[in-house]
Amino acid sequence: MTAGRTAGPSRRAYLGGLAAQVALASLVASGVTPISRAATPAPLPNRPLRLVASFSILADLLRQLAPPDAEVHALVGPEADTHAHAPTPADARWLAQADLLVANGLGFEAWLPRLREAAAAALPMVSAADAIEPLRRGALPDPHLWHDPARVRQVAQLLSLTLQRRIPAQAGLLRERLADFLMRLDRVDADARARLTRLPDDQRRFYTPHGGYAYLAAAYGLDMVTPMASTGADLEPSAAAVARLVTLLRKTGVRAVFVDALRDERLMRQIAQDSGAVVARSRLHGDALTRPGGEADSWLALMAHNTRALADALRGPSRT
Ligand SMILES: [Zn+2]
Repeated sequence: MTAGRTAGPSRRAYLGGLAAQVALASLVASGVTPISRAATPAPLPNRPLRLVASFSILADLLRQLAPPDAEVHALVGPEADTHAHAPTPADARWLAQADLLVANGLGFEAWLPRLREAAAAALPMVSAADAIEPLRRGALPDPHLWHDPARVRQVAQLLSLTLQRRIPAQAGLLRERLADFLMRLDRVDADARARLTRLPDDQRRFYTPHGGYAYLAAAYGLDMVTPMASTGADLEPSAAAVARLVTLLRKTGVRAVFVDALRDERLMRQIAQDSGAVVARSRLHGDALTRPGGEADSWLALMAHNTRALADALRGPSRT
């Protein structure tokens, strides 16, 4: 059962902000999950929305889509690794004050269920993953869905609809902001498509130690060679593992290797040289935005940067 079914639209309209919050709190206390997808329990008190996103990319989507006066906080900020986040008491305080929590889902925020429990947060949550059909990596769904503009379009629609139901009085403004964002998304997608579809078939294969770009590869017909676990950030790969990787890159004809901000750059340069691939001049931005003013300080900037970096590297000089 959801809060929406308990207190239907006419009843919700009847309840004042505070009364509705109390009704929601009692539902939560009785163990009822308060929200799923775009169902939203109650209108808000008359003040700007307080929105919390699990990480920087979702926070940016909220900033684009929510009313301009909304306060948006990312639990994991720019240039930080959400996979490895260790929640803090400050995170719990943000949850306690928020009106809505937006998470990615699909196991990306493994730390989030415990944080919500610790914060005893009765706040509604919406997951980006609810809007899309995930790709799979073996048996598990791949969480890195924000690298595909078509899926981000669906996520943006879900977020906007959730906000519209939360603050119906501003639904018109929210629909305008959604339309504006989707127009800019389409432009970035069309530019990327124009650049990447021109690549010959034998220039579409790339390698990056962070294998989080399967959605991007699928969206633009590229081929991401699956990384080996031994090149992860927290592991020093053995000489044998490096040799295996070089062989793999040679065998699969990988054209470009991307250095990852969180990985060992010197080692990647060596691997690229030994395998005959080129090291891309630009980095790819995977799981986080850059700080404001950086080359990927919004989702739109991140997509434009990554697809340009891929096109430049894959089009570059031939393999040696
Ligand atoms: Zn990742």
